[in-house]
Amino acid sequence: MSLPQKKYYRQRAHSNPIADHCFEYPASPDDYDWSTLYPIIKTNTLNKNNFVEFLDVGCGYGGLLVTLSPMFKESLILGLEIRVKVSDYVNDRIQALRKQNENEYQNIAVLRTNAMKYLPNFFRKGQLKKMFFLYPDPHFKKAKHKWRIINKWLLSEYAYVLAEQGIVYTITDVKDLHEWMVSHFEEHPLFERISDDELESDIIVEKLFESTEEGQKVTRNNGEKFLAVFRRVCDKINQKVT
Ligand code: SAM
Repeated sequence: MSLPQKKYYRQRAHSNPIADHCFEYPASPDDYDWSTLYPIIKTNTLNKNNFVEFLDVGCGYGGLLVTLSPMFKESLILGLEIRVKVSDYVNDRIQALRKQNENEYQNIAVLRTNAMKYLPNFFRKGQLKKMFFLYPDPHFKKAKHKWRIINKWLLSEYAYVLAEQGIVYTITDVKDLHEWMVSHFEEHPLFERISDDELESDIIVEKLFESTEEGQKVTRNNGEKFLAVFRRVCDKINQKVT
């Protein structure tokens, strides 16, 4: 089985994330059969609960999934992608990689869904260790800012599905979007920014620049890249007020 060719899976760059597409989604995470995406979990236990732990939101053509797979063999890693042909490409890519490399790439998968609408249907509270927003659609016009995947309401949802101390990675070549993401995360009480010093020891950070197809395109065009990483802080609600 050969790797799929991107030219057969092209689709318009933007899909309206607010429109009512027809998506199937479970009533709750327990109602979803994860072994359809990760057949290996029928026989092997990868992590304690066989839960997805890493989520690449808007994974595009899946470069990050393929890079992280051998680095985190014990973790289930999922890409979410709204565009049909693009998610088909990622799925065909993963199936081909699994066939070509016995016992490898079993921990990555892609799901076609709208990440702005259905996260709590797929993920339990505190389930995710890492979330990635790599080169998200910038939606430049003010009237389209509501389509941006980072906003204060969605940040509360991301905080819900993330474990305490979970990490969110963002990178973009659009300075205005970078500043938008930073200000939204910094204003949110459940996130804090991680310093550049602390990021030096994180082996994932260097992969964010070149692993994905969009990151490679920015490099080809000599574009700048702006990185910002955040930690999901502990819920203060249970702490005693003194
Ligand atoms: N992260 C990839 C990369 O770095 O190559 C893709 C970046 S591309 C600019 C943004 C991707 O997010 C597109 O493939 C788009 O279809 C997807 N996307 C946008 N809104 C989405 C949503 N609400 N849910 C899932 N995917 C979405």
